[in-house]
Amino acid sequence: MSKKNKNFNTKTIHVGQKPEKIFGAVSLPIYLTSTFKQEEFGEYEYDYSRAGNPTRTNLEQNIASLEKGIGAVAFSSGMGAISAVIHLLSSGDEVIFTRNVYGGTYRIMEKIYKNFSIKSHWIDTTNLNQLEDTICKKTKMIYIETPTNPMMEICDIRAISKIAKKNKCILVVDNTFMSPYNQRPIELGADIVMHSITKYLNGHSDVIGGILVSNNNTLLEKLKFIQMSVGSVPSPFDCWIVQRSLKTLHVRMDRHNFNAEKIAKHLIKSKKISAIYYPGLTNHPNHKIAKKQQLNPKGVTVYGGMISIDLGSKKNARKFVKNLQIFTLAESLGGVESLVCHPASMTHASIPEKIRTNLGITEGLVRLSVGIEDIDDLINDIDNSIKKL
Ligand code: PLP
Repeated sequence: MSKKNKNFNTKTIHVGQKPEKIFGAVSLPIYLTSTFKQEEFGEYEYDYSRAGNPTRTNLEQNIASLEKGIGAVAFSSGMGAISAVIHLLSSGDEVIFTRNVYGGTYRIMEKIYKNFSIKSHWIDTTNLNQLEDTICKKTKMIYIETPTNPMMEICDIRAISKIAKKNKCILVVDNTFMSPYNQRPIELGADIVMHSITKYLNGHSDVIGGILVSNNNTLLEKLKFIQMSVGSVPSPFDCWIVQRSLKTLHVRMDRHNFNAEKIAKHLIKSKKISAIYYPGLTNHPNHKIAKKQQLNPKGVTVYGGMISIDLGSKKNARKFVKNLQIFTLAESLGGVESLVCHPASMTHASIPEKIRTNLGITEGLVRLSVGIEDIDDLINDIDNSIKKL
């Protein structure tokens, strides 16, 4: 069966995973080696593991196939992947970003790449007029996150890709919150898809990693060169662990989607919550866009496993988190276990307070990463905690 004919769930298990030649091991070995024997000067498939390693190749091929790209380039963290994307630019270039991206993306642009004269614009990319108005001759890249972190705004990837193409800009989509099971930006016109593998792709809160996928050979060659030259590559062991986790991506995502939707619909009844941000709710301002672009591989709309709620004050947020028994207070998201985080003091602490407040990241806002535990237990946990406010 060719790669093209395989369906998503089969691909998670089989692409890049042919049993190895020596003993026929079905679970592929981890190639824990820094270097490789060469038959002759310059005759080799792999020479040095910063440049390439079979365990990493397997993972890159697998994720590329899930995202409908022609290749992928893996990194030792999501930030390593974001940094590689920015290395495609030159000083004097400008990038337009979704205003409420992950705090680390804001930090790297404002504290590091600004010093190399790469200018960032932070705008509301759900507003296409604002996007078009911000583009100028120096704009070389549009970088969006959808749903955004933590406000769950939805950007229209297809519409933005048309604007990017018209203006000869590279469109990068951070697809971390969705995973390729819930959304495939390349099909909607993106040039590069970025993931913090740390989240849903690995899904077990035990690896830090990142990846870039593209369907453009020129971009892939440049990114591979950056990966090899800058060197923030993942270890073969981490690649293997992620590959093992990917085999259950579809099973996990179905449960994340199911649990989060149930919780969001349950929470709208609560009088103690001043705002709830979940794209699956019909009163969400971008619900219609989510409905058309967040599709699982069978074409069914899905809304993801992330919910943000505003409890009105830091005091309430703190009390809510303290009383939870199953949700753990921790950075990160996308693991099988439910997590809760306080963006203002955790993931988004590096964004100046005034900007944070304008974005809606208040002191009362908490973000839930809904895991795959039993839904009744999760709802009881939240209800018990809210009752005590
Ligand atoms: N993008 C998003 C949406 C994230 O949530 C994160 C981390 O939380 C990153 C990128 C950075 O990834 P990493 O922590 O793997 O470096």
